Amino acid sequence: MTNGAAIASHPYRRDEVGRTLKPVDQAESVRTPASWVVVGLDNGGTCNNATVLDATGRYLVDSLVENPSLVTEGPESAIEQLAEAFHNILELTRTPLTLVRAVGLDTPGPASATGVISSKGATNFSMVSWHGFDIRSALEARIGLPVHYLNDANAAALYAHHQLFGAEAMTRSSVAAIVGTGLGGGVVQDGRVVSGAAGMAGELGHVQVPLHGVLEEGQPVPVCNCGFEGDVESIASLTGIKKNLLPYWLTRFPGHPLASEPLPQAAKQLRTYAEKEDPLALAVFEQQAKAIGKLFTIAANFTDPHAYLLGGGVVEAAPKFRQWFLNTVRENTQLRAEQQAAATFALVADLDMAGARGAAVAALEAVQSA
Ligand SMILES: [Zn+2]
Repeated sequence: MTNGAAIASHPYRRDEVGRTLKPVDQAESVRTPASWVVVGLDNGGTCNNATVLDATGRYLVDSLVENPSLVTEGPESAIEQLAEAFHNILELTRTPLTLVRAVGLDTPGPASATGVISSKGATNFSMVSWHGFDIRSALEARIGLPVHYLNDANAAALYAHHQLFGAEAMTRSSVAAIVGTGLGGGVVQDGRVVSGAAGMAGELGHVQVPLHGVLEEGQPVPVCNCGFEGDVESIASLTGIKKNLLPYWLTRFPGHPLASEPLPQAAKQLRTYAEKEDPLALAVFEQQAKAIGKLFTIAANFTDPHAYLLGGGVVEAAPKFRQWFLNTVRENTQLRAEQQAAATFALVADLDMAGARGAAVAALEAVQSA
């Protein structure tokens, strides 16, 4: 049985990685703190999103509170914008600075477990001044409070885990796959993100999966930007559609209307076609769901989690298509009878706020266990 996690609906447009494009400067519903608090800051390519979580586990805002992230202007501007996001959210929620015990920060990766951006840079941090930049320490020095770091996919996975399990979260485990431009994810054990020695645990997109039963006879083996062949991201991501799946499936459906579109545009339109039960689009998404099912089968034999969580653009799709996708993932996840009885499959809700909220959860947990 699927656990019917709530699906967020909101009026804001998103870009392909699921960030909002329209900044929102005022929350719809705001509370004041009942205790000491932690602040969660989600740093994205376009915007920062901020939230406040009090020690009773209550979020003080229900919607996005954003400001421009200015990451393309380099570390100095970006740190100032994060500090502004921090002070703005305190002002909005009328939270005195003295009540804040810690800050959670998440950014897109790759970065180390302690928030040092990859020495090769990253999609969002391409300027040379970002390479090897310690964003966690820089923010800590700027605002004078302990800062805890997570990558954005791990933060989303952590929030999804806590939202699903509530009071039982610290005794439960989960694996989350979030389909976007790439495939992000996270492994949560006993309510905490497994980060790994180098901070690279839970890079589920780059897990290679058996392709038998996924690919068609004669279909080229998909290749990922990371260089691996046949990993999950090479199939279950927008990049995988554009580079690998769509070029193949267009040869199987000659004369399909998408054949006349440039591939990047065609890839983005595919979900709309799938919602209308277009056979080419369904063939592509079926391969994605099968690849995620293979990934979850590996997870079942690795950490045997209580929950398999699925997020990304598909969660925002029409309910019938969304349910078909989740069912197809589940049908392709081979669990033993005991596991079937114990495990839940669910969609990751509130994805636009999941980063900030997950970062706040990590900070709260760090304070409480200190
Ligand atoms: Zn890869």
